[in-house]
This record gives sequence, structure tokens and C-alpha cells, in this order.
Amino acid sequence: MSYTISIYVRIMSIILSGMIGKGDVLVKNQHLCYTRIIMGILCQSVFFVFDLEKIRWKRDGRMEINMKRTDVVIIGTGAAGLYCALHIPEEINVLMITKEAFDQSDSFLAQGGMCMLRDEEDYEGYFEDTMRAGHYENDKRSVEVMIRSSQDVAKELLAYGVDFNRENGKLVFTREGGHSRPRILFHEDVTGKEITGTLYENAKKRKNITILEYTTMLDILEKDNCCYGIVMQDQDGTIESVQAKYTVFACGGLGGLYRHSTNFRHITGDALAIAKKHAITLEHVDYIQIHPTTLYSEKPGRRFLISESVRGEGAILLNKKKERFCNELLPRDVVTAEIKKQMAADNMPYVWLSMERIPKEEIETHFPNILQRCLEEGYDPTKECIPVVPAQHYFMGGIKVDLSSKTSMNRLYAVGEISCNGVHGKNRLASNSLLESMVFAKRAAQAICGEIKTVTFDDTIKEADAASYANIEKLKEEYKKLVLDEIEREKQSH
Ligand SMILES: Cc1cc2nc3c(=O)[nH]c(=O)nc-3n(C[C@H](O)[C@H](O)[C@H](O)COP(=O)(O)OP(=O)(O)OC[C@H]3O[C@@H](n4cnc5c(N)ncnc54)[C@H](O)[C@@H]3O)c2cc1C
Repeated sequence: MSYTISIYVRIMSIILSGMIGKGDVLVKNQHLCYTRIIMGILCQSVFFVFDLEKIRWKRDGRMEINMKRTDVVIIGTGAAGLYCALHIPEEINVLMITKEAFDQSDSFLAQGGMCMLRDEEDYEGYFEDTMRAGHYENDKRSVEVMIRSSQDVAKELLAYGVDFNRENGKLVFTREGGHSRPRILFHEDVTGKEITGTLYENAKKRKNITILEYTTMLDILEKDNCCYGIVMQDQDGTIESVQAKYTVFACGGLGGLYRHSTNFRHITGDALAIAKKHAITLEHVDYIQIHPTTLYSEKPGRRFLISESVRGEGAILLNKKKERFCNELLPRDVVTAEIKKQMAADNMPYVWLSMERIPKEEIETHFPNILQRCLEEGYDPTKECIPVVPAQHYFMGGIKVDLSSKTSMNRLYAVGEISCNGVHGKNRLASNSLLESMVFAKRAAQAICGEIKTVTFDDTIKEADAASYANIEKLKEEYKKLVLDEIEREKQSH
């Protein structure tokens, strides 16, 4: 339509320039007026030919000038997505989208904390703890990068304004299962909210970062194993394509696919399904972590986590007869297996967790959020045991990436829980995931910044056909099946 109007205006201006020129000829300098007429007609004709060419491009699918464009699109506003965005300089435009409100990410739910290498003597121990928890299937280079980068990440977080707990002005460290010494920075029992909320506040101040809430990625724009952006459904339900020089998946895990999970229900491994659909390499998709201790409830929805640091500070597990039955500080998969065995032996849907060894004041100051939630559910952990049950918690596998978080598809990066750089091996060590998300998100940002100057937008990329995404419920089911089938296939292959 806009072309038709434009062409009409051009034809009219050619006629008008002719008419005005003709009027001038009768009264003024004849030579000057003829020159004006010719120049006017020539200029308008050039624009006219240009418009015709644009129409031809559009008809041939060589140009889609209505498509939104951004330098970088990041899908997900958890710790990984935000940290990546904050490491992209202000002259590069970043569009971030998230399925729900900005604070509805698993990063906001993290309770226990974030690991940090205490000092050089801690290196061997930290490395060994991570490897042992991961059944020595971890990628050693990734583990080294993560541990060696941890102090820088902590410093950057403090500079952004994150308030980690301190005593006499010095940072304090807590301990969780699988750790040979306390090396976890925390903010009460809401560390994820403190970190991610602070990152979000910083991102909001940046002029080059736009955040769209309630906007869902449905697919990617792909040609010849290169990613050119995404197809998304915005808050109004409109389906549109966004062309980007680089695309970053920061979509979290897949807990929403499971009945019992600590994850938000909308975190459903969408990027994994999209990756599978486009033949992007995946790795260890059956490496799914079950957290040993979530508060038992018969209500539907997300399971409430009872952080490992509660056991790190002295809580113990008890069976039906209130007898202790395992070492609570073993890695998660081992404790989970012990609990499941005990539940079967007791024929109970839960076991008990006792916090009686933790001073009441410590429970109130270190675990106020857990205390509050237990009270809401009718249990007072300062006086009685609480029922706990294992639930899906974390995804160690994912979209295979290298040390710069690059996937097997050109111009596509994956960071955070959806990616698999091998750092966690078969089982994640507690409080390594926030750290890992940020370490490798920064590396993705650095890699993108190193390359982006040589990349231009491609005018031959077509907008996706919105009609083929119109049935969102069907698409969701297809994606869910794609992921669950792939997990099953991987399981069978062992
Ligand atoms: C209860 C709980 C407690 C935890 N405690 C700790 C802890 O103490 N220490 C620790 O290190 N780790 C902890 N973890 C794990 C850690 O929080 C996560 O692994 C980590 O935060 C993942 O960050 P992320 O940015 O990759 O994903 P998330 O924070 O989950 O963010 C995913 C984002 O992607 C968006 N998204 C997903 N799909 C789409 C789509 N199709 N379109 C648009 N947007 C999409 C979501 O809306 C969200 O914004 C905990 C996890 C849970 C659930």
C-alpha cells in the first residue's frame, strides 16, 4: 500500500514540476526554468525506478522491509540472559524477551547462593568437589574456566550493587552438600532474587537494552545452518519475526514439563525443542537433576525448595520412626537415591527433615524465606520436622556449546541452564549454576562483540509465515513431545 501511495506522489510531482516550470517559462528566465523542469523530472524518475525495484524485490521475497531488526536478540531474562546483555557495549542494540514477567525466572528462585573460589589453596578442593559431584564426566576445561572466573564475577556483582551477607564487613561463606568447605556467597535465602533483581535494575538503565515481557519465542529464522533471528508472539498475541545479527538462547531448564519440579511452570525447554527441530547439536539431554529436598505438598504447581544449605548448616533427614538414615551432605543424586529407597521402605510419600540442630536465631536470619513458607504450609521448623520429597530441579544436559557458548549453528549462542558446556558432568554441584550461567554468558557476549562488526543484516531473509504458528497450543504439545522423546531416546542409548 505504502508503495502505491509513494508512486502516486512521485508521478504527481513529475507532472507538477512540469507545470510549475511551464508557468515560470512564461514570466522569467527561460533557460533556468527548462533546467529546473529537466532536473525535477530526472530526480523523480530515479526515485520512481527505485520504488519499482523495491516492489520487485518484495514480490521475489528478496526484501522484507517491515521486519523488526536488532543487533542481538536474547531469549530469557534470568541471570544468564541479563549478564550477557550487560556485557554487550552500549553501541550494540540488544532486544531481550521473556515469556512472563521479568521476575518469573528460576534465577529469581535460587536460595542457597553462588560459589566462589576462596583462595589459591581452595582450587584443588573446589575442582575435585565439582568433578566428584559430576561423576567425573565434567569437561575439565569448562570447570577450570568457571572456577578461575568466579572471583571476577563476584567482584562485578558487588560493583553492580549485589548485597552478599557479611560479618564485620567481610563476606561470609556458607556450605552445601558435596562441598568440602564453605565457599558459597549468599544473601539470606533469597540469593537469586538479590543477584537477578540487581542485574535487571542495571539492564533497565542501559539505553541499548530493550526488554519485552510476556513475549514468547516460537522458532528461529534459519538458512543454511545460520541463525538470523527469531519468530515470536508478543503480549497482544501478534506473531512476528525479528531479524538479528546474533541470537542468544538463555531460556533456562525444562522443569515445567515435569509434574513435580521446583522450576517455574513456563520454563519448558522450548529452545531445546527448537534446537532439535533445526538439527542443532544437543548433549546429555537425559542428565536431569532431582533435588532431594522439596517441601511435600499435595497442592498442584511448583514445588518449594528446601535449600541444601539448610542441611549444610546442620539439618538431618529422618525416616518414619524419626531415625537418621543417610549422610545428608553427599551429592544430590546420592541423597535423592537414599531418600527414594527410604520412602519405599517406609511406604510413605515423603521423609522428615529436622532443623533442630540449627539454632532458632540462625533459622530466622539465614533462612527467613524457607521459615515463612513452612509456616504458611502449617509447619514450624524451629519446633518440628517438615516433610520433604525429591523433585525435578535442574538440567545438566542441553544445547551443546563450546567455551564461548557457541552452538553448532552459526550466529547462535546458548547460555545458562539450557546450554551444555559440560561443566556439571552428570550431576551439578550445589550453587555452581548461577556462577556457571554468568561466567559463560559473559564469554558469549565477548565472542559476539568480537565478530559483530563484520556482520551485516541479510535482506534476503524472509519473514516467517505467521499462519503456520497460529495454533500455539498445538505447537506447545509438539515441542513438549520433541523434548520428552529426545530424553527417552538418549536414555535408551546408554
Ligand atoms: C528453586 C530453585 C533454587 C535454586 N537455587 C540455586 C542456588 O542456590 N544456587 C545456584 O547456583 N543455582 C540455583 N538454582 C538453579 C539456578 O537458579 C538456575 O540454574 C539458573 O538461574 C538458570 O538461569 P538461566 O538464566 O539459565 O535461566 P532462568 O533463570 O530459568 O531464566 C529463563 C528465562 O527464559 C525465559 N524463557 C523460557 N522459554 C522462553 C521462550 N520460549 N520465549 C521467551 N522466553 C523464554 C523465561 O521466561 C526466563 O526469563 C535454583 C533453581 C531453582 C528452581
